[in-house]
Amino acid sequence: MSEFTSGSLTAKNIHLSFGSNHVLRGIDLHVPQGTTASVIGPSGSGKSTLLRVMNRLIEPDQGDILLDGKSVLKDNPDELRRRIGMVFQQFNLFPHKTVAENVTLALRKLRGMSKDQAREEALAQLDLVGLKHIADVRPANLSGGQQQRVAIARALAMKPEVMFFDEATSALDPELVKGVLALMTDLAKGGMTMVVVTHEMGFSRNVSDTVTFMDAGVVVESGPPEELFTSPRTERLQGFLSDVL
Ligand code: ADP
Ligand code: MG
Repeated sequence: MSEFTSGSLTAKNIHLSFGSNHVLRGIDLHVPQGTTASVIGPSGSGKSTLLRVMNRLIEPDQGDILLDGKSVLKDNPDELRRRIGMVFQQFNLFPHKTVAENVTLALRKLRGMSKDQAREEALAQLDLVGLKHIADVRPANLSGGQQQRVAIARALAMKPEVMFFDEATSALDPELVKGVLALMTDLAKGGMTMVVVTHEMGFSRNVSDTVTFMDAGVVVESGPPEELFTSPRTERLQGFLSDVL
């Protein structure tokens, strides 16, 4: 894996409502450069919404988002989305394009690369995730795990400073989860700054540097994995862990 040198991400006092539903109620999250923050919590607690606010797919009602210590709320949102790569539960690959074309699309459109340049870059990224040999295959012919690795390669090809993963392994058959988690672990160990929303408690506990437990739109507890997993302070986290572990 290559070295990643820039990118610390901070969310400060983020509030967001959908109509009368106050979904994020003053969220603070700081992810130092080169570290991995996992975000855990029950369904509906606001984890996906937080990621979407942090890469400005949704504008917060209140609060600030800083990248490398600088507020990004006044920047062009497209620019921010180039700096933050995102991987979703449903891989969101274009079904009628080949694997390589899925990766080259954004390189050509957003980075303005020539066809040959983009192809070369795409093959290099696919090689990193072990899928160069299927560059010219369509996504429907791949396993879910392979599709998700293509989605990760597509995000990495943009050379993001930060990577977001939103339950990236939740839609996979159990036997395919391991390969994707291994890739995410390599990225984390390679120094990528990452925010990982996950139900994989093993990843959260063993790979991430910090764990943030959200419930009902607030951060209930946040800290090093050993601390949260071995001595949760709140009943809410104790209850959550006894349900999922
Ligand atoms: P999680 O990812 O933790 O399961 P979400 O962020 O998806 O939680 O959802 C948090 C809350 O926000 C839920 O009550 C959900 O119904 C609501 N919500 C999410 N997205 C939208 C939306 N686009 N419009 C209205 N409500 C939404
Ligand atoms: Mg979600």
